[in-house]
Amino acid sequence: MLKSLLSAFSLALAFSTPAIAAERADVIIRHAAVIDVAGARVLPGQAVVLRGEDIVAVGPDAEIAARWQAGRSIEGGGRFLIPGLWDMHVHFGGGPALIEENKALLSLYVAHGITSIRDASGDLPVQVLEWREAIRSGKLAGPQLFTSGAKIEGIRPVWKGTLEVGDEAGVDAALERLRRDRVDFVKITDSTLTPPLFLYALSRAREAGLRTSGHIPMALTVAQAMDAGIRSLEHIDYAYKAGVKGEAAIAADFAAGRIDRAEANRRLREGFDRQTALAAYRNLAAKDVFVTPTLNGGRIIDFLDVDDHLDDDYLAYIGPGLRATYAWRVERAAKATPEQIAARHAHYRQLAAVLPLLQEAGVTIMAGTDAGFLNSYNYPGIGLHDELSLYVKEGLTPAQALASATRAGPDWFGRLDRYGAIEAGKAADLVLLDANPLEDIRATRAIHAVVLRGAVHERADLDRMLDQARRQVAAWNAQRAP
Ligand SMILES: [Zn+2]
Repeated sequence: MLKSLLSAFSLALAFSTPAIAAERADVIIRHAAVIDVAGARVLPGQAVVLRGEDIVAVGPDAEIAARWQAGRSIEGGGRFLIPGLWDMHVHFGGGPALIEENKALLSLYVAHGITSIRDASGDLPVQVLEWREAIRSGKLAGPQLFTSGAKIEGIRPVWKGTLEVGDEAGVDAALERLRRDRVDFVKITDSTLTPPLFLYALSRAREAGLRTSGHIPMALTVAQAMDAGIRSLEHIDYAYKAGVKGEAAIAADFAAGRIDRAEANRRLREGFDRQTALAAYRNLAAKDVFVTPTLNGGRIIDFLDVDDHLDDDYLAYIGPGLRATYAWRVERAAKATPEQIAARHAHYRQLAAVLPLLQEAGVTIMAGTDAGFLNSYNYPGIGLHDELSLYVKEGLTPAQALASATRAGPDWFGRLDRYGAIEAGKAADLVLLDANPLEDIRATRAIHAVVLRGAVHERADLDRMLDQARRQVAAWNAQRAP
C-alpha cells in the first residue's frame, strides 16, 4: 500500500517536473536584494544559489528557484545581500601568553560579517601562518586570513617578532625566509630600518613578485617609496605627508640631521597643500598604490580626553591580556597637556580631510582598522563598521565606503575574479543585511546572516558565537582576578 502510494507520488512528481531537470545545490537564498557594489545599485527579487564554497547561480527569483534544487533554502525576505567584508589591516600579538586570546578574535570577525582579514604583522607570525593553513583546511573556524608573516625591520626595533636586517644580505635572507613561508605580502616598518635598506627591501620584494606595504621613513618621500615599489600606504598619515608642499625638503633636512623628528612633524603639519596633494594622489592612483586609512584607531587615541572607552560594552569580548596591551597608548595619551590635546584633535581633522581628496583623485581606498592589540579600544569585528561610518562622515558615499570593504581588498590581492561581487563563479562569502547599506552605511551592522565559504550562519548562530566569545573572556577574567 505504502509502496504503491510512494510510486504514485513519484510518478506525479515526474510529471510535474519541468522539461529541464533541476540542478542540485547546497543552499538557495530566496527573495534577496543583491547589492552590486561596483555599480552602486540594488537588484531586488533575486535568488542566489551556493554549492560548496561557490556561488553557482544568481538571477530573478522565480526563474532561479525553478531551475535549482537546494538542500537548504534561506528566505531572504527582501533583505540586502552584500559580498563578505574584508578588514585589510588587523594585527595579532602581545606575546606567546596571548596566543589563545588572539585566536579567540577570529570568531569576532566572522560574527560581524568579516569574511577575510589581512594581518599586517604582529609578534606571533608563526601562529598566524599556522592559523591561515588551519582555516584554509577547515580545521579552525575563522575568516580567510592573509598575512605578511614577520615584518622586516632594522636591528633592535621597537617591535617584537620581526626579521631584523642590518645590510642588503640581511634583506635578501629575510625575503627568502618570507618566500618560504609563502606570505601573502611583505610588511616593512622603519623604527630602526635605514632608509636605503627600506628602499632596497621594497625593490627586491618587487623583483621577487611580492606585494609590499609599510611605514615610510621620515627621511624619504612617499614618491621614493612608490618608485621603489610600495603597493599600499598603511595609515592616512603617509598620504597626508605626500600632500605636503615641502615634503622633499623636510625629508632631506631630517636625513641630514639638520632637524629632529618633532621639527619635521611641525613642518609637515603646516605644509599641507591641496594642489600638491591632488597631484600626489593622482600619481598614487596611476601607479595603483592603494591607501588603508585606519582612521578609527587614530581617532580613538586623539579623542581619549573626550571618550575614555572604559565603559565600552565590547570590552567584554576582548581578553584581559589584550586589554592590558591597550595601556601603552592610553598612558602616553594621558600625559598630554591641554595644548597637546588640542593639537591632537586638530591633527585628526587634518588627516581625515585627506580622505575625500584621495577619492577625488581616484585612489583605491582599502578599509582597514589596525585592530588587534596595542591599538587601544580599536575592536576586532565592530571596528570595521566604525571605520566605514567614518569614511561616510568624511565625505565618501556609502557605495564608495562599501567598495573599500568588499572590493578594494580583493583588488589589491589581484582576486577580483573570485571576490567582491555576487555572481556565479565567485566565492560564497556573503552578508545578508536588514537594511540597504547604499542608503545608510550603518546597515552593515544590521546582520541577519553571514555566509562564509558556503557555510550559513544565521543570526542565532552569530549570537551564539558572540556569546561563546564573551563567556570565554569572562573565564579568563576570573582566572586573572586576585
Ligand atoms: Zn597596524
